[in-house]
This record gives sequence, structure tokens and C-alpha cells, in this order.
Amino acid sequence: MRLKLEQQDEIVSQRSETRPTRRATVPALEEILYESLPVLDHGFVRVVDYMGDDAAIVQAARVSYGRGTRKVSEDQGLINYLMRHRHTTPFEMCEIKYHVKLPIFVARQWIRHRTANVNEYSARYSILDKEFYIPDPEHLAVQATTNRQGRGAVLEGEAAQRVLDLLRRDAENAYTGYAELLNEDASGSPIDPAQPGLARELARINLSLGFYTQWYWKTDLHNLMHFLSLRADPHAQYEIRAYAEVMLETLARWVPMAHAAFLEYRMNAATISATGLEVIRRMLAREQVDQPSSGLSPREWRELMEVLGQGAQR
Ligand SMILES: Cc1cc2nc3c(=O)[nH]c(=O)nc-3n(C[C@H](O)[C@H](O)[C@H](O)COP(=O)(O)OP(=O)(O)OC[C@H]3O[C@@H](n4cnc5c(N)ncnc54)[C@H](O)[C@@H]3O)c2cc1C
Repeated sequence: MRLKLEQQDEIVSQRSETRPTRRATVPALEEILYESLPVLDHGFVRVVDYMGDDAAIVQAARVSYGRGTRKVSEDQGLINYLMRHRHTTPFEMCEIKYHVKLPIFVARQWIRHRTANVNEYSARYSILDKEFYIPDPEHLAVQATTNRQGRGAVLEGEAAQRVLDLLRRDAENAYTGYAELLNEDASGSPIDPAQPGLARELARINLSLGFYTQWYWKTDLHNLMHFLSLRADPHAQYEIRAYAEVMLETLARWVPMAHAAFLEYRMNAATISATGLEVIRRMLAREQVDQPSSGLSPREWRELMEVLGQGAQR
């Protein structure tokens, strides 16, 4: 179960309270504040707090006293300018805090992003739930042949079923062993009073990477966008991308102007090398350029053609 009944009740209770404030609030984000946004089979993302809005970015950039009286188009223009020219510190004035439930292998990729504050659920202190990630059949794929970090063709029929059965069997076995080592039921009473229970910090060591963990993750807008630019990118592993895509939606609600600038100048933009730029100049001058005459490696050439939407035809 993604959320237990008492957790659902806590969220309902949190959402029923409102407090007067002089601080900036964003109605579109308030709408989903505390709500759990589902990701993968048991995971979620919840926005649990935030500070600042688009106006706070503008305010910081202008070092102004109030929210100002400029037009929306001027604010968007300024935010676009800041994003385009990597003037990043105004974006650091906004902060957001998420509660995330995620498989351990996703957490291992995520934790590499060092510019956030993290507090993880303690499996030394508490018992992990019997929740492990089983991919949807459409995401079960063979190893890619062109990219060592990627997936190839989707598995079908019996082959897919075999993998699903094996994943489920091993996770079930691991959890059965965990429960046996703990020798504790949900209320903390011994299952077999004649046996000693192993310490929680040791009992967990046989659980595998597919089991779910949880954390609070707080970061500023600049570093959030850095995270999203890497993890919502098609090159990121599907499972972490699924989280990044949900967080992109929260970004759109929270700071719509920064989100628009982020899509325009980061997510849907491209960085082109000096040699790549020279190739484009030569093409614009109607010169015939192919990979051997481009000065680019076959891989760089392929990447440039993808950016230019030329696919494999060149
Ligand atoms: C598609 C993909 C594949 C990957 N493959 C691998 C892999 O095979 N193996 C692997 O180990 N990792 C891998 N990574 C992780 C990657 O190398 C980064 O560790 C991760 O993306 C975090 O990026 P970051 O350091 O920029 O982010 P953050 O830690 O959030 O840092 C943000 C920025 O702050 C600065 N910064 C933060 N800390 C320091 C510091 N201590 N010193 C200097 N500058 C700092 C840097 O400018 C950095 O870019 C992969 C990531 C992606 C997206």
C-alpha cells in the first residue's frame, strides 16, 4: 500500500488546516500541498513545504524592497535572461521540501546530488514495510547494444513473465528472512517468544535494492533544476525519471515563469561543441558535411544529428 490508513488521515488533517501569513504563497502549489503524487508501483512525491515564488527570483535579482509593479512580461523577460546567462543565485532564493518514497536503487542515484538536505527513514530504528519495486512489463527490456547504460527491446511473453516471477520470488524470500530475523510483528511483540530477535540494523542487510525507502529532501530552486535537467532527461534511468517528471509538474505549479524558462533554455535546449558549431555553419553555407569530414567522433556526430533532428539519414 502506497500510504497506510493513518498516513492518509494525517495528510487529510494537514490539508484541512490553513494559517494566515504575510509570506508569499502560490495557490497552484497550495492545491497539492502535502498530497501524495504516485510514482512507480508503491512510491510517491509530496511537496511538504516551500519558500518563495517567481516574484522572489525577480526581487532578489533586482535587490528590491517589495514585489514591484512591473508587468508580468517584464518579470518573465528577466527570469529568461537570468536562465539564459546562468545568473543562478536569484534562483537559490526559493526553496522546496519534498517527502519521497522510492526504491533503494533509485535513492542511490538520487543521493549523488549533494546540494540538498536529506533525512532518510531509519531502518536501524524502524521496520521496513514489505514493499518492493516490480517494473511494469512495458519497462522490462533487454540490455541495450549501443549504450551500456541503457535498455533495448522490451521483453515479451514467457521471457517477461520469467523475469517478473524471479524478481517477485527473490524479494518475497528476502522479506520472509527479514521478518524471521527480526522475530517481531507490527506491534513489536515477538513472533516466536523462544527465539531472540536480531537487531533491526542487522536484520535489514539481506534486503535488496528494489525495496522502498523514504526521505525528506529539501533543496533550492537552482539545484532542483540542476537535478531535473539530469534526471528528467531521456538518458536518465526510467525509474528516477518517473520521479523527476512528477517533480517537473510541481515546478510548473510553483514557479511557472522559472519553469517556462527552464524548459526553453535548459531542458529543451542543447549544448553544442565548437566543432559541432562549425559543422552547422558549414551546413548553413550549403557545404556537404559527413561524419569523417566533420572533425567529430562517430558518437558526437550521432548526438549532433539527433539534436538537429536529422536522425540516422546523414
Ligand atoms: C545519465 C547519468 C549517468 C550517470 N552515471 C554514473 C556512473 O556510472 N557512475 C557514477 O558514479 N555516477 C554516475 N552518475 C552520477 C553523476 O556523475 C553525478 O554524480 C550526479 O549526476 C550528481 O551531479 P552533480 O554532482 O552535478 O550534482 P550535485 O551533487 O547536486 O552538485 C551540483 C553542482 O555543485 C557542484 N558541487 C557539488 N559538490 C561539489 C564538490 N564536492 N566539489 C566540487 N563541486 C561540487 C558541482 O558544480 C555540481 O555540478 C550519472 C548521472 C547521470 C545523470
